[in-house]
Amino acid sequence: MAADVIDGRAFAARLRGRVAEAVAGLKAQGVVPGLAVVLVGEDPASQVYVRSKGKQTVEAGMASFEHRLAADTSEAELLALIERLNADPEVHGILVQLPLPSHLNSDLVINAIDPAKDVDGFHISNIGLLGSGQKAMVPCTPLGCLLLLRDRLGSLAGLDAVVVGRSNIVGKPMAQLLLRESCTVTVAHSRTRDLPGVCRRADILVAAVGRPEMVTGDWVKPGATVIDVGINRVERDGKQVLVGDVDFASVAGVAGAVTPVPGGVGPMTIACLLANTVTACCRAKGLPEPGGMGL
Ligand code: NDP
Repeated sequence: MAADVIDGRAFAARLRGRVAEAVAGLKAQGVVPGLAVVLVGEDPASQVYVRSKGKQTVEAGMASFEHRLAADTSEAELLALIERLNADPEVHGILVQLPLPSHLNSDLVINAIDPAKDVDGFHISNIGLLGSGQKAMVPCTPLGCLLLLRDRLGSLAGLDAVVVGRSNIVGKPMAQLLLRESCTVTVAHSRTRDLPGVCRRADILVAAVGRPEMVTGDWVKPGATVIDVGINRVERDGKQVLVGDVDFASVAGVAGAVTPVPGGVGPMTIACLLANTVTACCRAKGLPEPGGMGL
């Protein structure tokens, strides 16, 4: 039986609609949520992401502040900009586009952001808050995955979840979120023994590896929900195409539901960034947080 295809594009559009409604409500109270995005250097993929983030921020009715800095910007200059953004009352969310050029210390830079404005959820305080089950800013990609899973499955309590990948930006926060939903969580990585066997135990399988089409249908429990976070550029018939970490064709024959690439998790990431900015703005102003946007 063919799996249902989870339409991340449609879900993300609905989420952006909720964000725009919330922004309109805030504006009626004289509050305009603002997102500052900082890009250092000219990495082509980062430029595309930053443009897209700015465009969607404005479309949602929010203020967008873009700061494009030269590739040779010093750490002191970047930290001074973050200090100014931390102090700026019109800025409720700050995002520093990663990866940074190698002469800059990403951890130092990210941890200089006011945790209340850290809409990427990468600040060490937010990591700690998430891990201890407290109110945090939640990293956008895992949050997007969780919203898709809840929409598909309702309560996740008691389900066996396997996350393949243990990065700080996807795998680990994803595992924390699933644990918070009362899943029984296994985190697999490059040293895991019998990875296919581990994956076959999963009711929920999240692949965040960065290896094109690694997860095949014989790794998947019949009926499982499979979330493909991977974005890999590969060449097919002389053309560059995007594929996930999941071999969609074989997995779709076994899973109950699967996210496609593109059109699955990808569109959720920016939608969740917008939602996090609204959340950060409401918290900063002491206003109630709109429902349906996060945890
Ligand atoms: P990282 O490279 O930081 O982490 C990859 C993880 O996969 C590591 O934990 C690594 O294990 C594990 N891994 C690598 N090879 C294997 C293997 N053969 N078997 C099992 N585990 C393995 O990647 P990210 O977490 O940043 O990203 C993962 C994927 O998600 C990428 O394709 C990226 O492009 C995509 N992505 C998509 C986003 C979206 O918006 N949709 C946002 C962010 C990322 P170990 O720790 O042992 O080395």
